[in-house]
Amino acid sequence: MATAELKHFVRYGKKIAGAGLNYRSLLTERKLPLPKEPVIFLKPTSSYITEGQNIEIPDGFVVHEEVELGVIIGQRCKNIPESQSLQYVGGYCLALDLTEVRLMKEIRENGLPWTFGKGFDTACPVSRFLHCEEIQNPNNVRIWCKVNGELRQNETTSDMVFPIASLISHISQYMSLEPGDLILTGSPAGVGPIGPSDVMEAGIGEDISMTFPVVAV
Ligand code: MG
Repeated sequence: MATAELKHFVRYGKKIAGAGLNYRSLLTERKLPLPKEPVIFLKPTSSYITEGQNIEIPDGFVVHEEVELGVIIGQRCKNIPESQSLQYVGGYCLALDLTEVRLMKEIRENGLPWTFGKGFDTACPVSRFLHCEEIQNPNNVRIWCKVNGELRQNETTSDMVFPIASLISHISQYMSLEPGDLILTGSPAGVGPIGPSDVMEAGIGEDISMTFPVVAV
């Protein structure tokens, strides 16, 4: 896929693969052990929204925000070793992996699929496509999230348990990664509830940010 099409990963990408429990700060906050292997779930592409659209929270939903660095796959790959996996990165984005948490406790305790916790409409707000050159070191860049101007999450990607190269390699052992696919790389500590009339602002470092209003539906 040419870069011109990769820029429209929201339209052309076929899947969103998310890494859960992938920041040391989050695991410490929740008193959870380090996972031995990446914890990967799928999120439907119908959950994408881009700036200018609203995060929609249906009545009764309890939604938590998770700011994450998104990795956009540039070339088809399968079974790739960690040492080669970064060459398949086509670009990046900033993402909010919104999670409906009423179900998540039961889901985790009973080993059930994460589908309904992660897949509701508008559960994946993303920034514009970011060229690889815009992220100088994806393994050590600061991501942050504010709710109504108050800083909630603020951590560097060096805190990941399984870094980007490891996640790509691991996922590619099980399924082909295709151009425009998005990998959500996990969220640091500070995750909390959001609700109607909140304004979400998230960023990478000083120069890249995005804003999404939250509405009830
Ligand atoms: Mg997440």
